[in-house]
Formats: sequence, C-alpha cells, structure tokens
Amino acid sequence: MTDSFPCKRCGACCRNIGRIIGTESMVLPNGICKFLDQTSNLCTQYNTRPIFCNVDEFYDKYLFNSITRKEYYLANLKTCEKLRKLENENSDGAISDRPTYDFGYDGASE
Ligand code: SF4
Ligand code: SF4
Repeated sequence: MTDSFPCKRCGACCRNIGRIIGTESMVLPNGICKFLDQTSNLCTQYNTRPIFCNVDEFYDKYLFNSITRKEYYLANLKTCEKLRKLENENSDGAISDRPTYDFGYDGASE
C-alpha cells in the first residue's frame, strides 16, 4: 500500500469526536478528544489511536472490498471540509447539526 490520506492536520475531526458513539471515555466535556494537543493539532496517542482515527487502516480493514480508495478519500475529504466549515460558522466551535456516527468503537485502542 503506497497511498496515504492527504490529511491537512487541521484537527477538526479530533475537536468533534463527541458525536461518535462509543468515544465517551476519550471526549472532554466540550466534545474535543482528550488526546488532541490543541496547540499543535496533533494526536498525542498517534501510534495507538483507535482505528477509526486511522483513515488508511480503516479502509484496509473494513472498506477495501466496498469502495475504491479514491472514493473513500474523497468522501473523507468532504467530511473534513464540512467539519471545518461548520466550525467556522460557529464561533464557539460547537457544531449543533453534526451527524452522529457509530463505528462500533468499544473504547479500547486497537
Ligand atoms: S479533519 Fe480531515 S484534514 Fe483535518 S485533521 Fe481530521 S482527517 Fe485531517
Ligand atoms: S485519538 Fe488522536 S487522532 Fe483520534 S480523535 Fe483523539 S486526538 Fe484525534
């Protein structure tokens, strides 16, 4: 596997994981992941982060048979863009109309 997801390291996904079912143990009261370094926007648990945080590993494990990697990247990039747009529209960073996702995460790092 030579491709990798072109993450901009904006941190928008990590600031909005409060709506992902099963992430309660890693979410601060404001919806931001407690493992996010809010200065650098980098994950402090990068090497042991949950699989749903790892775009490429998630694809390789669950989606490689369903959609192309390009389609998957494009769908993810659209979500990244939407998160950034919603954050910009909400000065307090809260995203009230964001959807809820269930990745079946059980709270343990993979
Ligand atoms: S929102 Fe997208 S571009 Fe930003 S850090 Fe998350 S995966 Fe990367
Ligand atoms: S574990 Fe890391 S990559 Fe996953 S949401 Fe938290 S800060 Fe982001």
